[in-house]
Formats: sequence, structure tokens, C-alpha cells
Amino acid sequence: MLQEKISKIKKGGLSAVENISNFLRIIKAKNGKINALLYVNENALKEAAAVDKKIKQKKAGKLAGLAIAVKSNISVLDLPVSCASRTLEGYQGTFDADVIKRIKAEDGIIIGMANMDEFACGSSGESSAFGATDNPAAPGRIPGGSSSGSAAAVAAGMCDIALGSDTGGSIRNPASHCGVVGVKPSYGRVSRFGLIDLSMSLDQIGPLSSDVHGSALMMEVISGRSKYDATTFDNPVPSYSSAMKKKLNGLKIGISSDFEKLCTDKRIYEKIKTAAEKLAAATNSKSVDVNLKYLHLAIQTYYPIVYVEFFSGTRKFDGRKYGKKIEDACGEEVLRRILGGKEISKSEYEGRYYRKALAVRKLIEKDFGKAFEKVDIMIAPTTPMLPHALGGRITDPKIMYAYDAFTSPANLAGICAGVVNCGKINNIPVGLQIMAPAFREDLMFSAMKAVEDLKNAKEA
Ligand code: GLN
Repeated sequence: MLQEKISKIKKGGLSAVENISNFLRIIKAKNGKINALLYVNENALKEAAAVDKKIKQKKAGKLAGLAIAVKSNISVLDLPVSCASRTLEGYQGTFDADVIKRIKAEDGIIIGMANMDEFACGSSGESSAFGATDNPAAPGRIPGGSSSGSAAAVAAGMCDIALGSDTGGSIRNPASHCGVVGVKPSYGRVSRFGLIDLSMSLDQIGPLSSDVHGSALMMEVISGRSKYDATTFDNPVPSYSSAMKKKLNGLKIGISSDFEKLCTDKRIYEKIKTAAEKLAAATNSKSVDVNLKYLHLAIQTYYPIVYVEFFSGTRKFDGRKYGKKIEDACGEEVLRRILGGKEISKSEYEGRYYRKALAVRKLIEKDFGKAFEKVDIMIAPTTPMLPHALGGRITDPKIMYAYDAFTSPANLAGICAGVVNCGKINNIPVGLQIMAPAFREDLMFSAMKAVEDLKNAKEA
């Protein structure tokens, strides 16, 4: 789909201005109800006109004329970067994040800034200070979070591709609930320079799109070493879109009964298992049961790390330089993490919480390392339950945190993982998660493409 549009733009069959105008019309008609975008770029049409000139001169880049929505925790020069919080209300980006520089260099056009859970803390999109986002694929339900607006903008047809950030599932969870594609890159694959941290040892920026090709293309653009982020790696960035054309054959596909145990809604596990078996049959592959001994500890490991790193990262929001003092302006979940992080990182608790969590994180990483000695990729559910109804406020944080049971392990282990839709339950989209070893995004994309092809063939 997106591939066809790109070649149409290149050939002059659709101009960048026309493409952007179409999206602006859709945004105007739908955003009031969906609340996916917090801000629409007033200069988008002007920027599109400049790209059209480059297209005519045959000097345009890979993303020429495409509309890109950006999560509001990624810095874009002169656009509001609020993290959907009153803390940073009115703050405008003073520079382009590395990923934005790369998108602009390939002539992508930033269409607007997306809604999100406040400071990326959440799984539902309900904790934004500027109102919750509706799910275009299942109206009246949460779109998932924290990249709620990015996923909803893609699902509602308000942009071609969106950027989100994923610390424990924030790209994959909303991709699953909104029926779109979303990718969490391997840690260190994409520069975090210009991303406002939730938890710096876990965060990665990644794409959301309506098909696998869109995310593969965006990954080609944003991946690679940056001198501004010392955690990025030098590994070459392969052409993910051509890797995707390679037909999968004779793989070992891991599926773990440990996923089944943690799946509160067994229908989700059944659906994923069936899709995995079909993938194995279609690609001459073998399904292998893998043991993930420490999987059940992922949430208890993830949250202490996030609390402590978030507490540390937010100390710059003291009200002197940027906006308001965070503790005075933020919502309940953000405050819980700041106070919790402050408490458990006290010296008298040395070694009790954060250190222990880091030790278990190592065990989880080893668990995945061992599993990937036996299998090439792993297939898992994305969330253990379907998205809840909007407004049915979840007051127990433990219930909200449970959404991350199958997504946070990939962040803890540093591997890559992507979500692609594999059907619906009660008319609500369900995303299938594919995990691959660190820096094997090429393999992950081939497998995601195969799942997408199987689904499209069934629907045709
Ligand atoms: N739901 C998780 C959390 O609240 C994930 C957030 C994220 O990935 N940004 O921390």
C-alpha cells in the first residue's frame, strides 16, 4: 500500500502537497473525537511544496512527501514537545532529535505531534493531561499506550507513518489494540538523542505504520550510530525493505507455553498459536517449545528499574529551566513513579530493589539468549488481555502494569520485537508479536511480512 503511494509520488501521480492536504482534511474531520494529535504542524503544506520542487528535480529522499506524526516526547524544532503533561505545557523543541534530522533529510514531513500517556507512563493512553485518545479500530475502547496518539493517528488514516517510543511495550501494545504495525528496535539500534527519557536503559524510538513495509522503511531511515548517543552501535543498517522480500524458509520458530500461563484471556493465546502454526506450515518451518523460566518476573523487574531511572531523569524538571516543577504539575501515575523511585533509590535500601532488579534483568536476558540458541525467532502475544473500555478507570496500578507482561521482556533483554495484526476477537484487533535476537531486525521484518501476507491472502 505505502509502497504504491511512494512510487506514485515519485512519478508525479500524487504531489506531496496533495498527500498532506488529504491528511489535513482527515485530521480536521476526525481528530476532535479521536484526540490522536495534540498539535498539527501549521507549516506542513509549505514544507510539502518545497519537497515537491525536489521531487521534480529528482533530488527527493526516501520519505519524500510522506506525512509523519511524532510522539510528543521527541524533540522537533519549534513544535510543542509537551510529553502530554502540564509540566511542559507551552515548551517548544529547541532542536531536532536525531531521528527527526534523519526523517527531514529524507524529505518526510512532520504533520503533527501525537498524544500519549503523560511522560510515556502508562499502557492505555488515558493519563494524558490533554484528554484520552479513542481507539479508531475499536471505538469506545482504549487505544493502548503510551504511544496512544501515534497508533491512533495511523489507524485513523491521519498520517503515513508515526514515531513512538517503547520502554516496556509502548509501541507494540497500542499497535496491537489499534490493528497496526509497530516495532521496538534492538537497544542501541536507534539514537535516543532528543527523546525525553522514561527509562534510559530501556527506551527505544520506533515506527508505527499501517503495513510492514512502512515500518521497515522508517527503520532504514532512523537506525544507525549517532555521535550524540553513546549507546548506539556501529552495526551496518541493512536494507530492511529488501530483506523483507526474502521468503522465509526452514526456520525454527519458538513459542513458549510460559506465554500461555500468563495470558489472562486464553482466546488471545489460541489466536497467536494458530497464527504461529500457519506461519510454520507456510514457510516450511518447525515450531519449537521454548522455556522462559523467568518470564513471570518481567513486570516485577521492569518497574523498579523504570521508577528509579525515571526519578533520576525527571530531576531536570525543577521549574527553573523548563516549564513547571514536575511534582507540582503532573498527574497521579507520574507522581507515583517519582515518589516510588525516590524511595527505593535511598541509600539505606542499597541493593534491595534496583540492584536486585538489575540482577534479575540479567537472568531474563540470559533466558532469551539460551532460547535463541534453539530458535531463530519467537512468537508471542502482545498483551495478555483485550483493551478495556475508555473511562472504565483502572485504579489498581497492578492491573494496568499487567498489560506489559509480554512486551517488557524484550526491553529487558535488549532484543528487537515487532507487532503485526493477526485478526480480531469480538471485533477488537489482536496483534501478534515477533521477537528476534538483537540486531536481527532483518529476520524480524521477514517474519512480520510473512504473517501479513498470510492474513491478506485469507481476507482476499
Ligand atoms: N506501560 C509501560 C509503562 O507504563 C510501558 C511504557 C513505555 O513503554 N513507554 O511503563
